[in-house]
This record gives sequence, structure tokens and C-alpha cells, in this order.
Amino acid sequence: MKVTFPHMGNIYIPIESLVQGMGHDVVVPPMDTKRTLDLGTKYSPDTTCLPFKIIVGNLIEGIDLGADCVLMAGGTGPCRLGYYGEVHKGILEDLGKKVEFITIEPPRGNNPNFWPQLGKLFEKTNLKRFAGGCLLAWAKLNACEELELLALVVRPREREFGSTSRLLKQAFQQIKKAQSLSAVGKFREESVHAVKGLMSTSEKEKVLRVGLVGEIYTVLEPFVNLQIEERLGYLGVEVYRTISLVDWVKNHIFKQGIGLRIDQALRRSAAGYLRGFVGGHGLETVARTVDLAEKDYAGAIHILPMTCMPEIVAQAILPQISEDKHIPVLSLVVDEHTGEAGFQTRLEAFVDLLHRRERCRILG
Ligand code: SF4
Repeated sequence: MKVTFPHMGNIYIPIESLVQGMGHDVVVPPMDTKRTLDLGTKYSPDTTCLPFKIIVGNLIEGIDLGADCVLMAGGTGPCRLGYYGEVHKGILEDLGKKVEFITIEPPRGNNPNFWPQLGKLFEKTNLKRFAGGCLLAWAKLNACEELELLALVVRPREREFGSTSRLLKQAFQQIKKAQSLSAVGKFREESVHAVKGLMSTSEKEKVLRVGLVGEIYTVLEPFVNLQIEERLGYLGVEVYRTISLVDWVKNHIFKQGIGLRIDQALRRSAAGYLRGFVGGHGLETVARTVDLAEKDYAGAIHILPMTCMPEIVAQAILPQISEDKHIPVLSLVVDEHTGEAGFQTRLEAFVDLLHRRERCRILG
């Protein structure tokens, strides 16, 4: 099969290796652009969330490049993700795109499609090849995330404007092409060293530190969040991204896979504000905002797609946390109409406010 899948940040790099390990060809859709968004918006229900629309655009672009199979992740929580796959499939069928549609989701109750779908994915591979693909994908995921997180520290301190992002782009392409664990390790080491070398000031030099919380797709996909991490870096802010894909895999696949509970720490942090899971990353948003205040971050930015149910729940709670814990919180809602100029102005105003607050704190 020629398999395509939606984008979310750099996740296409490990997923490509994983799908190749399953014995299939991979059609990576073009990176998200205005065309992707326009296609998705045109064929999606009006009021659905932005990730849904971009994914429709990705799938159409992937199929138009020759893919005959779509691989999607599903979900079982109260947000709409659980139903995405079915609606996406319906939209593609209406457009006359005849493809195999495989949605991977945890089997709950009677899911007659689960095993046949897995069977189709694995019929062309063997254990050795699949294990090799998994290890390579895991190494690439870790390498990409380490570089992304390092860039958040280096960017506000870089000697030459834009050098961190330029170097990162090259590093991701090298990691993508790597076909062995040793090659990934080599590129990872070299790139980390090179990115650290871009700093003009020491890592310990004080800059504003702001935490980024919110819906996972919006936090991780730069096209959707209007490159918020880069924008903040260029405003001299060190961003702490509270969502990690590496941790997501460890928690949801490794730990939950052997029956361990993964949300006790989140529930502890969110106690008094939210009692439990509300779908998506709503609980994480509340818990992480409390953690940021307790770790003395200068502020928190909450980013969410318009109409995202779990994040709307969190958004309603954040003003109380902000007041109780004395942490400024900015909520940014994005949809297909979000304009760059207004977005940038809001970030600049928030950063100004944080600077003023820090100055007042220092002066007592
Ligand atoms: S968490 Fe929000 S944005 Fe993400 S799929 Fe669910 S409703 Fe849509």
C-alpha cells in the first residue's frame, strides 16, 4: 500500500520510518500551507475544529500524490477526535477518493474493525522488519524533540537572527534521511552541538520564561499556531512547551499498555480546579498552568482551536488559576481566519506586560 497520514509538527519523520517498517510505501503530504487549509476548509463542516480541517487538506494532498491508504489516529475520549476518522472517510468518499482508510484507536467494547485493520497494516512485514522500523522511529522522535526543545532555549539568545531555525531545518532533513540508529545518533549529536554553538549568551542568562499550554495539535503544529514558538523566541522569550510527544508515547503506549495509571500527577496539580479528564488535553492545560505558576514562570500562553470542547473547559478555569497563583495567562484562539498582525500584536503586548511585571517585582 502507499500510505499517507496527517501532519503534526515533525511527527512525519518518525511515522515515515514506522510505516516503512510495516512494509509499505509512504506518501508524506506536502507541509501545511494556505492551500492545505483552503482545501480542508472547503470540504469540512463549518463549525468543526481547525485540526479537523487541516487534516482533511493533508489527506486530499496525500491522495493526490498517489497514496491509496490513509492512516489516522482515533480516540475514545469525549472530544470529537473519536469521530474524526469516520467523518474524514465520508468526506473523501464524497469527493470520489477511493482509498483504504485505517484508523488506529484503542479497542473498547465491541470494535469489530480493530483486528482486521491491524492485519492489513502488518500483512507485508515480519517481526524483525517491524521492530527495526519501531526503533528507528523512536530514535528519530527523540532526536527531533530534543532539538526542538533545545531551540526554545537557544533562540532568544542566538547571535544571528534566524540561525537556530535555519540550522534546525537542515538537521530535521538529515534525521529524516537517516536509515540506521547510528546515523540518527550521529546527526543528533552533531546538531545539538551546532545549535548550542549559536548562543551569544550563556544558557543561564536570565530571559523571560513563558509556558505554552493547550490543545496538542495546536501546540505542536507551527502552521496552525502561526509559529508561536519562533515569534516568542524572537521577542526574547524562552518558551517551555508543556506537551511532549516522547512523553505521550511513553505514557499512552508503554505505561498504559501495561495497565499503569498515568494521570495522578495531573490530577494532583489540577485539584481544586478540575476533577478529571475532560477529553483532549483539557486536564493537562489546567494542571500545567498550576505547575508553571509554582515553578515561577513569568506567564502562560494557552492556545486552542475555536470550538475545541476540552480547551473551552480549561479556558473557563484559567482566570481563577491566574488570580490565585499570580500568573498572567493569555488565551489565544485560532481558526482559519486568524490574522498574523493581530496575533503578533497580542504576543508583543503580553510580553511587554510580563517585562513590566518583572521590573516591578525586582524593584519591590
Ligand atoms: S481536542 Fe479540540 S481541537 Fe483537538 S480534536 Fe478534540 S475538539 Fe478538536
